[in-house]
Amino acid sequence: MKYGVNEKGYYGDFGGAYIPEMLYPNVEELREQYLKIINDADFIAEFDQLLKDYVGRPSPLYHAKRFSEKYGANIFFKREDLNHTGSHKINNAIGQILLAIRLGKKRIIAETGAGQHGVATATVCALKGIECVVYMGAVDMERQAPNVSRMKMLGAKVVPATSGSKTLKDATNEALRDWIGNPVDTHYIIGSVVGPYPYPDMVARFQSVISAEAKKQLFEQTGKELPEYVMACVGGGSNAMGMFYHFLDDEKVKLVAVEAAGKGVDSGHSAATTFLGREGVLHGSRTILMQTDDGQVVEPYSISAGLDYPGIGPQHAHLYKINRAQYVSITDDEALQAGLLCSQLEGIIPAIETAHALAYLEKMTFNPDDNVVICLSGRGDKDLDTYIKYFGY
Ligand SMILES: *Cc1c(COP(=O)(O)O)cnc(C)c1O
Repeated sequence: MKYGVNEKGYYGDFGGAYIPEMLYPNVEELREQYLKIINDADFIAEFDQLLKDYVGRPSPLYHAKRFSEKYGANIFFKREDLNHTGSHKINNAIGQILLAIRLGKKRIIAETGAGQHGVATATVCALKGIECVVYMGAVDMERQAPNVSRMKMLGAKVVPATSGSKTLKDATNEALRDWIGNPVDTHYIIGSVVGPYPYPDMVARFQSVISAEAKKQLFEQTGKELPEYVMACVGGGSNAMGMFYHFLDDEKVKLVAVEAAGKGVDSGHSAATTFLGREGVLHGSRTILMQTDDGQVVEPYSISAGLDYPGIGPQHAHLYKINRAQYVSITDDEALQAGLLCSQLEGIIPAIETAHALAYLEKMTFNPDDNVVICLSGRGDKDLDTYIKYFGY
């Protein structure tokens, strides 16, 4: 694969495993084992069966007719919002729990910001009867109380991170500390295409089912396998990488990744990483991240908790740098308006993360025959409060 990871764990200048010495055995074990395990016939059979019967895959590729009329192109939604637990995150959580079991692990840890990845992880741990500990910033636990309750109901232990800003990056630090202390029996399920190698590649492979299905479905519906455009929102970048994966080597397919501009890229309240960031190391890999002149990570902001991350995965940093994909950004206001539009034109209330990708359609011009596939990464149930506050329903 031309844009895939090399044997050292790099995508061009980005990637690698920048980890404390004490994590080396855990990450090394994963690196040695992951391809062998996930390419094993028995693993593939169990993964595919759970995706089908538990998640509800294949997710439909839906031709959004009223959106198509409005924007003058054939617009398709890849419906990850219809998955069990409401987003693409379950694809990765299932892949990693099956891997952890085959590595002989007895305990799962995860970090979560808004709680979506925590809920997906707690769900698959319940499914497999495995102990689950989710680290979550104390501030986030308050902001996302319903997801905390969901995780507890699913049997997970939710541990508040009380250091720093008490948000996602502090939860990540706590999870890493736990992993260092429990290297033998514990697997750490990272929720996006970030972290030290092999996580970015492993998560991308688990999410690549999105584009594998989309390619086939587009052919069935249009007679063409390749669309003109493929689009997705980017927090860490896992739904986008899953949506891009099987189109990467087809250079004619234009890839559009939409970041969160928050209150505007120059407002000081933004998460538009490629616009604001520079190269550096974040959560174990060399990538592009928002940082001060002396290298301190800048606190990001977006109204959507899932895009509120100061970096992007290393493969995205590479695709950005070599111009294989276009990275753009959308403000809170633009995203919320697009969420409303999608609700009223298509009868689908999208997650606010997803609404960022939809909003960028306003800024594009199409030929009438263009096929455009957008990853509808998640459903908007979790965001109803935010929509209601904004629009006053
Ligand atoms: C978590 C989340 C995202 C952002 O994460 P990626 O790894 O960038 O995909 C996007 N959409 C939804 C619905 C999410 O829950």
